[in-house]
Amino acid sequence: MILDGKAPTGPIEQTWDKHRFEMKLVNPSNKRKYKILVVGTGLAGASAAASLGELGYNVEAFCYQDSPRRAHSIAAQGGINAAKNYQNDGDSVYRLFYDTIKGGDFRAREANVYRLAQVSVNINLGPPPIVVSAPPAVVMIPQSQVYFVPDPHIDVFFYGGYWWSPRGEQWYRANAYNGPWGVIEQRRVPRAVTYVPRDYRARYERERHVPYGQWKKDHAQWDRENKKSHKQWEKEREKELKESKKDHGKHDDRGGGQGGDRGGDHGQHGR
Ligand SMILES: Cc1cc2nc3c(=O)[nH]c(=O)nc-3n(C[C@H](O)[C@H](O)[C@H](O)COP(=O)(O)OP(=O)(O)OC[C@H]3O[C@@H](n4cnc5c(N)ncnc54)[C@H](O)[C@@H]3O)c2cc1C
Repeated sequence: MILDGKAPTGPIEQTWDKHRFEMKLVNPSNKRKYKILVVGTGLAGASAAASLGELGYNVEAFCYQDSPRRAHSIAAQGGINAAKNYQNDGDSVYRLFYDTIKGGDFRAREANVYRLAQVSVNINLGPPPIVVSAPPAVVMIPQSQVYFVPDPHIDVFFYGGYWWSPRGEQWYRANAYNGPWGVIEQRRVPRAVTYVPRDYRARYERERHVPYGQWKKDHAQWDRENKKSHKQWEKEREKELKESKKDHGKHDDRGGGQGGDRGGDHGQHGR
């Protein structure tokens, strides 16, 4: 019997790139004409099924677990290997490839393991979580009614009855300083918050640090009122968006929603 894993041919460092290059492209409108069978729904199978489904293919995923414990994915303890080549680690794609093949008793399919080591370089664990563990002191950004948390050194603001925090392009909102934090569309973040200057810390660190308890007492009424006005602002924004969608026919993500918050003297607070 001939065992043919259909691994792409050629020098191992080039096989997958060459294979990808030689693959036929699928026109997006033809994707739904293909049916893809995924056998096994551990991390690899489940993520492949979800990604391919999202791309528009017809996916059927098969699994036979009598218990979720069957998948190795459920057993993984944490941590992930990647050829990140941090200083002095002596790491490389080849080193990870070699170690993984050896660790698997030389039974793995080499072309796939090499690919795994190659793509591991792109593993990005995402931004750190927003953690404000103790009631924070707050500092008011003059003339804005926006407060920031001077310590810890992460971007956490208070405005309109909510806590706001950006992570890269993504914004989060919480009812309390200690969360839970939920993702919020950027167009729903009040202008007062997105207009906070990027160098706010350097500019206002020396302003009065108000202890949390005192601030909470002083601002309970003000918070309630601003929560109301923020809700009103959200409603109006929603209405504006609907109207602009109607006016412009097709919705264009680059305009409307976020555009209104851009510009101004301060520039947008995005990191
Ligand atoms: C105890 C343990 C701890 C680990 N710790 C870590 C760690 O800390 N960090 C790390 O990065 N990795 C760790 N690993 C390795 C990691 O879990 C695996 O490499 C990874 O989960 C493999 O994912 P997978 O989707 O390829 O396979 P699996 O998660 O094993 O999924 C394969 C699935 O296919 C199903 N299946 C098989 N044959 C068929 C069939 N004929 N029909 C239908 N379904 C079928 C199986 O039931 C299973 O659900 C650990 C592994 C174990 C066992």
